[in-house]
Amino acid sequence: MTAGTRARPLARRGGPAVSGVHCRVYKVPTEQPEADGTLAWSATTLVLVQVSAGGMTGTGWTYASAGCAPVVDNELSTAMIGADPMDVPGINESMVRACRNLGRPGLASCAVSAADTALWDLKARLLGQPLTALFGRCWKQIPLYGSGGFTTYSDATTRRQLEWWTGELGMTRVKIKIGESWGSEPARDLERVALTRRVAGPDVEVFVDANGAYTTKQAVRIGHKLALEHQVSWFEEPVSSDNLAGLREVRDQITADVAVGEYGYDESYFAKMVAAGAVDCLQADVTRCGGYTCWLRAAAVAGANGLEISGHCAPALHAQVAGTVPNLRHLEYFYDHSRLEAMLFDGVPLPTKGVLVPDPSPAGHGYSLKEADAGPFRIA
Ligand SMILES: [Mg+2]
Repeated sequence: MTAGTRARPLARRGGPAVSGVHCRVYKVPTEQPEADGTLAWSATTLVLVQVSAGGMTGTGWTYASAGCAPVVDNELSTAMIGADPMDVPGINESMVRACRNLGRPGLASCAVSAADTALWDLKARLLGQPLTALFGRCWKQIPLYGSGGFTTYSDATTRRQLEWWTGELGMTRVKIKIGESWGSEPARDLERVALTRRVAGPDVEVFVDANGAYTTKQAVRIGHKLALEHQVSWFEEPVSSDNLAGLREVRDQITADVAVGEYGYDESYFAKMVAAGAVDCLQADVTRCGGYTCWLRAAAVAGANGLEISGHCAPALHAQVAGTVPNLRHLEYFYDHSRLEAMLFDGVPLPTKGVLVPDPSPAGHGYSLKEADAGPFRIA
């Protein structure tokens, strides 16, 4: 596209045009108060975007705040209405350009992400194809890891969750949160990891996520203990993901893989992170980075630099796209989101033997909102 040309693809003559954009917001309480190393919460907010054309409707969502809704209703609707639903990357670019004065990272990119996934679902439905067929498959089943283990959990709750993952769901990888209270409880962190290793047994990979709670040298000291005493192989956000030099230092000194990328809101973020040597396995989140369109670009950045990618949270959405990239490592089966997706949508895949297998029969992603079940949680 040359400078000055119109990013927004107009509908083809005789073809369907995007005719409707609707946004709704749902806020669902968690089962109990939850926290990681640097944040506490008691509810999860899902912003739903539905886009219509040619008698079909595509559905996408992000996990963010109700602040996304005015962005969808104003800037993004203007970019989408009248556009050709076959040209999703072009519409994505129009939406990104429309958000220039809002600032792309954060809520604007979350809103774009929800709209982009809705547009891909719409395109696939218009073509009568499953999304996994539209994207193409390298993987027939998507490897998962169980993720939760909040710092607010009692040992009994942590044990129950671990036993559910490794038993009923067949997970061979599990992840818990550490870095409690901004890294001020390292002894309890290590006790909880020891519990995790005891419950999971020697054959399950144990992952940890500090959500940026530690200082650099603290993360190195803890990283050595995690590997030596508990065979931890994945240390996510040992320090803030904004601290690329610190991530590089930790990565150079510990044996576990350093994983970061969940706060990537555009392609340049991932490129800078990889160029800084800050990451062993790149993470990207379709509900933040700009939807399926930009998740595929993040995967390409990783692959071109010899790295694998892991899908961050929102397992039902990632399950549709992750199988199309050869350098996929796995998806995060995050407790809050897997609970919400099964609660609010029909058709989402459930894990068996530690993998997700998207249903190859319905058009699009095949998910439909359970209107009656979702209704009580609607806030906007
Ligand atoms: Mg994380």
